[in-house]
Amino acid sequence: MQLGPQARLLRLPARGSMVAVTRTLHDVGWRLSVLVPLADFGHTLWFYALLGLLIGMLAVTLGLLMVLRELYQRRVLEAAIRDPLTGLYTRMYMNETMPRLVARHNRDPDGAFGVIILDVDLFKQVNDRHGHLAGDRVLAELGALIRAQCEDTDIAVRLGGEELAVFHVREAPGETLRLAERLRIVVQRRAVRWENSEIPVTVSGGVAEHRVGETLVQLLQRADQALYQAKRAGRNRIIDADPPTSGGLPPGLCSQIDGLVADEVGR
Ligand code: GH3
Ligand code: MG
Ligand code: MG
Repeated sequence: MQLGPQARLLRLPARGSMVAVTRTLHDVGWRLSVLVPLADFGHTLWFYALLGLLIGMLAVTLGLLMVLRELYQRRVLEAAIRDPLTGLYTRMYMNETMPRLVARHNRDPDGAFGVIILDVDLFKQVNDRHGHLAGDRVLAELGALIRAQCEDTDIAVRLGGEELAVFHVREAPGETLRLAERLRIVVQRRAVRWENSEIPVTVSGGVAEHRVGETLVQLLQRADQALYQAKRAGRNRIIDADPPTSGGLPPGLCSQIDGLVADEVGR
């Protein structure tokens, strides 16, 4: 048996084979020897080997549990900030982050931004005619389309149901309105394939530029009122909440923008 440098095998006539384990206590100049019967010494080794194994397994299990917890927390966080159907940010995320954008613009004129609220036109009819799953497909494709059109600095949110918002940090006035028009046109051009049919989809939108001092709720209210006007004016159009001259651009008058967008998005 391997006893190690500190242990010596002794044969004592009265007590049989013993193992002496010796430690030197240098501070006091003592040598401390513990005599362990050889048989018990073997048991002790087994005991410590098993204990070591158990501690190792416990450590590995704890490590795995921590990794699983981390993954679970990430999924919960992801579900809280990303809508699973459209892949857009959730309303909760918007309420958490947008007040910072508002505060920044209130401090610094360079932080100007606008919001677009888009709502799918007559979406209930899509569900009624093609079924709820088809409606879900439309929303999923709409989400993908909008994400593809937006820049990294834009924040696209599913407000709920078939209503979306895009926050756009702008560099020049009118940029948010142009983005809204582009989104409207891109959606209009992309019919959604469902089984053997194609579902035409259009959106109406309201656009509002953030005014210094305005809260997020006030900004959204103005964009929402503009959206309401777009619906009342016949749908498939964008209305600017603070237009320089007059209201939004009906589809017939969008041909110029339409032509410009055509090159960007392809037909
Ligand atoms: P409008 O042009 O005035 O907006 O008409 P609309 O039909 O789009 O509006 P309405 O508010 O009457 O209907 C919205 C519909 O959207 C009703 C609801 O069942 C449907 N909807 C909301 N969320 C979802 C969803 O996640 N999936 C599907 N398939 N339908 C949804
Ligand atoms: Mg709608
Ligand atoms: Mg709606």
